[in-house]
Amino acid sequence: MFCVRCGREGSTYESLCVECFLENTRFTSISDHVDLFTCYHCKEFQIKGRWKRISLDEAIREVAMDAIVVRRGSELAHVRSEVTEADPRNYHVRIFSDVEHGDLKMKEELHTIVRLKNTVCPRCSKIIGNYYESIIQIRGRERKLSEGQKERIYTALRKRVDEAQEENREMFISKLEEVPGGFDAYLSSISLAKSISKELGDRFGGEVKESSTLVTQKDGKDVYRVTYLVRLPSYLRGEVVSLKGKPHLVVSIASNSTKLLNLKTHEPINLPNADLYEVKVLAHRKDILDAVVLTETDKELQIMHPVSFNTIEVRKPPGFKREGETVKVVIHEEETYLVPG
Ligand SMILES: [Zn+2]
Ligand SMILES: [Zn+2]
Repeated sequence: MFCVRCGREGSTYESLCVECFLENTRFTSISDHVDLFTCYHCKEFQIKGRWKRISLDEAIREVAMDAIVVRRGSELAHVRSEVTEADPRNYHVRIFSDVEHGDLKMKEELHTIVRLKNTVCPRCSKIIGNYYESIIQIRGRERKLSEGQKERIYTALRKRVDEAQEENREMFISKLEEVPGGFDAYLSSISLAKSISKELGDRFGGEVKESSTLVTQKDGKDVYRVTYLVRLPSYLRGEVVSLKGKPHLVVSIASNSTKLLNLKTHEPINLPNADLYEVKVLAHRKDILDAVVLTETDKELQIMHPVSFNTIEVRKPPGFKREGETVKVVIHEEETYLVPG
């Protein structure tokens, strides 16, 4: 084989000897300017048509890399980039690449300017337009939900939406509205609202009711909006409530019934949720305290009162077993009750 350009004999690349081939060939190229679209609402960046939550620096590098055009038959073996800010909207990017073409290895350098362009992503334009398919209504039963309860439920709801959003960014809350007795969360997806309302009902002992309204027709199909009403009791698992004036620990909450433990006798009792509409919470979880055990007999424990630090005696309810150096107690109307761990 000989070079069609200089006539030298030897191995050729596209009919040229190595020297002539390398002298006349660029293996990589890039346009002078590359646009980087960012959503001013969620701050995500559009890379290869997908919206991503990454840093500005990563986005600049990724969009520049993506704009590199490699000569046919050649491959990028390694790429490194350097970003310098020209101004907050424009960034110089130098790209250093190792290119391979058959058994040849070359180094090439490129330069481009990445321009930042503001836009709004399709998801955020829906959020801004208050788009929703479903509403989850969170309500207390008889009395209003406390701020703490609202906070806990909202946190649980938000966490599930965030998890769903990791899989599918079209899952979102478009509106949150405080209403008398609770709040309404407007969600972008019926199936997500359905599974979240069921989970909230199970976890917090609430009853879930579903209703739907026909909103429009699209391509000959009926389009519904579905509302999930979650009615929650006033207590949570692990709290102490007053039942007929006696403190009871809430052991577990199911969608129909709640398991309680009488703290005086440590007898369990299972009641339909409907029977517990009126109960009052005596102690939240933070009110259940640790008390150091000083001595123990068959019938009694001598403990240090967690607030006054006096030594006091408490009767052990039948079947009570201690584990460790402390016990959990709740204090109600001067009386100290042992809470099973
Ligand atoms: Zn040649
Ligand atoms: Zn966005």
